[in-house]
Amino acid sequence: MCILVILEQRGAVRSCSLEAASTAKKVSEASGMPLHGLYIGASVDAVLPSLAGIGIETLYACEHEELRHYSNEQYVPILCGLAQDLGAKVIIGPASALGKELCASAAARLRAELIQDAVGLHWENGLKAEKPIYAGKVMSEVMLTATPAVVSLRPNVTPIERNGEALPQVVKRDRPQATLRSVIQEVVSELVGTIELTEAKIVVSGGRGIRGPEHWPVLQELCDALGAALGASRAAVDAGWIPASHQVGQTGKVVCPDLYIACGISGAIQHLAGMRTAKTVVAINNDPEAPIFKNCDYGIVGDLFEVVPILIGEVRKIRNGN
Ligand SMILES: Cc1cc2nc3c(=O)[nH]c(=O)nc-3n(C[C@H](O)[C@H](O)[C@H](O)COP(=O)(O)OP(=O)(O)OC[C@H]3O[C@@H](n4cnc5c(N)ncnc54)[C@H](O)[C@@H]3O)c2cc1C
Repeated sequence: MCILVILEQRGAVRSCSLEAASTAKKVSEASGMPLHGLYIGASVDAVLPSLAGIGIETLYACEHEELRHYSNEQYVPILCGLAQDLGAKVIIGPASALGKELCASAAARLRAELIQDAVGLHWENGLKAEKPIYAGKVMSEVMLTATPAVVSLRPNVTPIERNGEALPQVVKRDRPQATLRSVIQEVVSELVGTIELTEAKIVVSGGRGIRGPEHWPVLQELCDALGAALGASRAAVDAGWIPASHQVGQTGKVVCPDLYIACGISGAIQHLAGMRTAKTVVAINNDPEAPIFKNCDYGIVGDLFEVVPILIGEVRKIRNGN
């Protein structure tokens, strides 16, 4: 019996996985079950230091050059095989694109209970998960009674917690022999060098109010000043002004940053579904009746093309210590 956490890597263990591991550690302490981790990738040595003090007892590592990039066909049998060998009662992963796919596939294969994109997880006479439903309008608390249970945790909702410097003990696992129907040759990322939207601490998003693709540099400049990721409404994406990978909302990405700045976005329910768990929301809109003003902490009624340059100037002053 144990808790097993999935450690997604991209060279290093991703912060969303370290958050999931920190939450898993609390569940492990409250339930009395040990916490183990699973690493799948090209080299466990490269990621080991990032696990210092997280509280994982044993790190099961399945290493191979062909495992450098995610492949459902390869990763799912590795995860399920380990979970069965250990008798894992709870499997926890990040609610990243990879994490959600892996959790769903593993839950199907293990005939396990599944909660995706939970915003809280704790042990209190059993495993309880909090999950937003109805486009984030209602928060549900779900008791997972059957085992194993598989839960993916939304990035940025829980802190990474470390206690000391202890590293997990590494146990190498063999890769299951299988005839692969597909091999990932290369991953081409459109977003090289930029901040991953779902993990960003600050997100600046633009909507139809941006008026055209030629105006993104205004928001990009604010992103650069703040160290933020650039998001967009579906209206902006559907207009072909920005790739769909930037879309925030019900049919886009769910973000949970410390600060979300919505520029020229009306605040449709489907957009709110992707950002309503942000800790602080600032809205800039020239329509004082825009629904976004009912869903923000700070509202600025004004033309974004006037307000955003002022914001950029003020942020730079603060950054430069003026
Ligand atoms: C099934 C379904 C799924 C959907 N999924 C998503 C989703 O994932 N994400 C999403 O975003 N939407 C989604 N939508 C679409 C959603 O309903 C809205 O149509 C969309 O969010 C509107 O985008 P917007 O706010 O940019 O545009 P609009 O609603 O047109 O709002 C533009 C806003 O910009 C303001 N504005 C204009 N000029 C300026 C200016 N110069 N300065 C300041 N403000 C200005 C206007 O006052 C207005 O409030 C979905 C819809 C459906 C039916």
